Amino acid sequence: MNRPVRVRFAPSPTGPLHIGGVRTALYNYLFARQHGGQMILRIEDTDSQRFVPGAEAYILESLAWCGIEIDEGVGVGGPHAPYRQSERREIYLGYALQLVDAGWAYYAFDSAAELETLRKEYESRGETFAYNYTVRERLATSLSLSADEVKARIDRGDQWVIRFKMPENRLVEMDDLIRGHVEVNTSTLDDKVLYKSADALPTYHLANIVDDHLMEISHVIRGEEWLPSLPLHYLLYEAFGWQETRPAFAHLPLLLKPTGGGKLSKRDGDKMGFPVFPLFWESPATGETAHGYREDGYFPEAFINMLALLGWNPGTEQELFTMPELIGRFSLERVSKSGARFQPDKAKWFNAQYMHHKTEAELAVLYQPILREHGIEVPDAVAGHAAGIMKERATLLTDLWDLTSFFFIAPEVYEEKQVKKYWKGDNPAILRALRDVLAALDDFSLEHTEQVVHAWIEEKGYGMGQVMNTLRLALVGAGKGPGMYDVTSFLGKEECLRRIDHLLNTLKPAE
Ligand code: GLU
Repeated sequence: MNRPVRVRFAPSPTGPLHIGGVRTALYNYLFARQHGGQMILRIEDTDSQRFVPGAEAYILESLAWCGIEIDEGVGVGGPHAPYRQSERREIYLGYALQLVDAGWAYYAFDSAAELETLRKEYESRGETFAYNYTVRERLATSLSLSADEVKARIDRGDQWVIRFKMPENRLVEMDDLIRGHVEVNTSTLDDKVLYKSADALPTYHLANIVDDHLMEISHVIRGEEWLPSLPLHYLLYEAFGWQETRPAFAHLPLLLKPTGGGKLSKRDGDKMGFPVFPLFWESPATGETAHGYREDGYFPEAFINMLALLGWNPGTEQELFTMPELIGRFSLERVSKSGARFQPDKAKWFNAQYMHHKTEAELAVLYQPILREHGIEVPDAVAGHAAGIMKERATLLTDLWDLTSFFFIAPEVYEEKQVKKYWKGDNPAILRALRDVLAALDDFSLEHTEQVVHAWIEEKGYGMGQVMNTLRLALVGAGKGPGMYDVTSFLGKEECLRRIDHLLNTLKPAE
């Protein structure tokens, strides 16, 4: 069947979006773009208990930062609006009742306390309670009570849920685009709640299937944690009579801890010093904060490139991909079945690659906000030039300030180690003489300064290292920094002379 590709990213706003979720969004997006299809963003917020204010805005901002564009959905609108499930709540009850009428679902009136008692009872016998075909005809359900009794209970306002009547001993055969053929016997499954009268809201399973159907979703690409729900979802499509347009499913492998065992968690990130969220997050409830790739100085292109390769491989040695290249190359067939181990160093490596390839103009735009935070107001060209000189030594955007701050702020104090080593003997006198050489230069370009100063050092028979490091002490205040003439040409003649004078006038040479 050839139908237009329509995929959806359907996060629940229960907290900051984990990078595993970003990867799910990314794979959906790549798939949609590659097939000229539509990418839909649906917010699945029917679980009011787990709703976290700010989470939806965080999701939207994360996707925007990553360059994952939404064609239809929350924040964009579209023919199937609204795309927030809480705003679609009237839709779902009718569908739940349709299943009750057709014998695929039933009312259940058990209270939470009754279910808890049952659970305990089973436990005391060393068994596990499951709400399924073994109990549903004995408990307070529309399968055991008379129609009148059911009506009476509903009319007097008793709380009820609608549960799916999972068939007994049936083999559900499913196909997954990544995992292949999967079979499950329904006797191992329980009767999931589809709808709750208490908050007049559907559960995830019902809302998800109804909306995927109504929104004409062609492919469901989501995390592996949803694979156990697939038999229920298949049966729901059958129960509604929607098999013909049931989407194809692809369940993505988990993102694993750097050590391999288990799912990548916030705690792993905290322990090993890397973010597991795209953006900085502060919990509105607890004030707890979490690191984000953006604020930690990563580029969205590098972050996306890294995520794309966590679970998908292009089949070649190529590692650097732009978004358009990823769109061209991505395929679900090359997504692995086994979990992808997250490697913090690799994330940094990707960022460094992108850093080294950035032009001064690109760096200027990115670096200006950091400079302004430090109270430095300079033209873009100057910001870009400083970053450009040091980019080869930078990994993260946030590294740039430490690497370049001396360009903007003259040293006041001098690194002790360098002072001990160079601010002694003939060096102060040589620096004074070098000052005059520099002062006499009309052309202060990098090449010309280098040529004149080198010739002068040779003529005088001075040690090149001694002179250069003494000059570095004056201009940088420390032993770090790029080539000396990058510094002189960046600072310009006047600033160089000023810094040299400051050292000469303020620091007594060591004995
Ligand atoms: N709301 C579910 C989640 O938070 C969506 C799962 C799915 O894509 O079906 O992950």
